[in-house]
Amino acid sequence: MEKLVADGVISRAQFLKIMAAAGVVLAAGTDKAYATKSNAKGRIVIIGGGAAGISMAAQLKRALKNPDITIIDPSDRQYYQPGFTLIASGVYQPDDVWKPQADCMPSGVKWIKDVATLIHPTQNRVDTAKNGVVEYDFLVLVPGVKYDWGRIEGITYETVGQGNAYTIYGPEGAAKTWPAMKAFGEKGGKGIFCDTYTKHKCGGAPKKICLLSWDNARKNNNLDKIDMHYYTGSKQLYNVPYFTPRLEEIYKERNIPVDINCRLKGIDTSAKKAYFERVETDAEGNKTVTPFTDDYDFMHFMVPQCAPDFVRESGLSWTEGNLAADGWAMVDKHSLIHLTYDNIISFGDCAGIPTSKTSAAIRKQLPIAVENLIALMEGRTPEAKYDGYAACPIVTEYGKVLMAEFDYDKKAQITFPLSLWDMSQEQWVAWLLKVYALKPIYFNLMLKGLY
Ligand SMILES: Cc1cc2nc3c(=O)[nH]c(=O)nc-3n(C[C@H](O)[C@H](O)[C@H](O)COP(=O)(O)OP(=O)(O)OC[C@H]3O[C@@H](n4cnc5c(N)ncnc54)[C@H](O)[C@@H]3O)c2cc1C
Repeated sequence: MEKLVADGVISRAQFLKIMAAAGVVLAAGTDKAYATKSNAKGRIVIIGGGAAGISMAAQLKRALKNPDITIIDPSDRQYYQPGFTLIASGVYQPDDVWKPQADCMPSGVKWIKDVATLIHPTQNRVDTAKNGVVEYDFLVLVPGVKYDWGRIEGITYETVGQGNAYTIYGPEGAAKTWPAMKAFGEKGGKGIFCDTYTKHKCGGAPKKICLLSWDNARKNNNLDKIDMHYYTGSKQLYNVPYFTPRLEEIYKERNIPVDINCRLKGIDTSAKKAYFERVETDAEGNKTVTPFTDDYDFMHFMVPQCAPDFVRESGLSWTEGNLAADGWAMVDKHSLIHLTYDNIISFGDCAGIPTSKTSAAIRKQLPIAVENLIALMEGRTPEAKYDGYAACPIVTEYGKVLMAEFDYDKKAQITFPLSLWDMSQEQWVAWLLKVYALKPIYFNLMLKGLY
């Protein structure tokens, strides 16, 4: 960093601000010394070895004197998924964002490399595809989301890229997107971008791809050759009042119209035509569905998402309310404990809680989940409460990020010192955090239970 100052890349004042930010970010970590480890005993089974599962196992290992932890997960690779946006925009290479799953498993934790197919919550048993039955005393249900490709006609994950239609929701899709985004910036054309109408992980990601596509055209002096449009399944572009005005302003400044209440239903990749429905509900609750199509030269879309099927099939999902449709695990939004079975905890993307599905949210859910699980194991009343904190670094251009941080009440919860930066605006310091700091923090601290 000192070298950047010496070489004139950043000023001394910027250097000092970065150091202040680094201090703030590290201080915001959740590391606990666990000086007094708990004597609590019990077989803990964790379904899913992603951001939530591995970091949970690592923290539990540090918190328990005699940990008995099993992770069930079929993956060979651990992906840092927030890096997919940066692969799709040419900042990272595809191999920058993964490590072998075996290297991420905490030592001493038993890994069953398999898929959980059903949970029997009244019998404390999990069926697996190849390894028979696994018994537990306490279950941590963190299998992430399922991408529901069946809800978009005309394209599958394998055919992403056909007809110049892409999604970065998956490593291969992210890698295919960069050459197409680059070509759009160089040649111009009509670009359409959309999110989806289900709950989904990182709602910022499709906006980032839209804004970075625009920025590629700007870098190529081709703004007069592009025509861009953003379709959202929501009632507005973004719903956190502290950040919404600036984000909407950016779309206006860049002449990117935003159409609300629009659901992608299919793509005709040979005709480069996207099929949407506009779903509007009036004051009496009557719904009007209006189909329409739009042509494109370059398209980025998001796939509808739901909980993995076995969650619902095991009777662990919401059955009423607005989370019932997609099978999300029915947990209390503060304690993260299942509402029917109090030896089950769920958090991360699979949890049916009204916050944004991000690894930033997991970082704050994790200590709550650990503390409450240990309380349950010790026979105490679980008292730790999650406040809904989530963060979404919305990359607005190469070099700038609007760092949205908020809680259940959609109130801003800013980590950076506001005396140094106005965080309602995009900032270069948040870009440095996104591009250089968060990935090493993920692999070296979070997955080791240290952050
Ligand atoms: C394109 C994109 C951009 C993103 N950008 C950001 C960002 O900028 N900031 C941010 O904070 N977050 C971002 N996220 C979201 C973040 O990556 C996720 O919220 C986080 O990874 C979720 O962690 P998880 O452990 O709940 O699920 P995952 O990390 O997805 O892990 C789920 C695990 O469960 C396993 N599993 C699934 N089914 C089963 C089964 N039946 N049996 C056993 N194991 C199973 C899977 O193999 C997987 O290992 C982004 C995500 C994407 C896709």
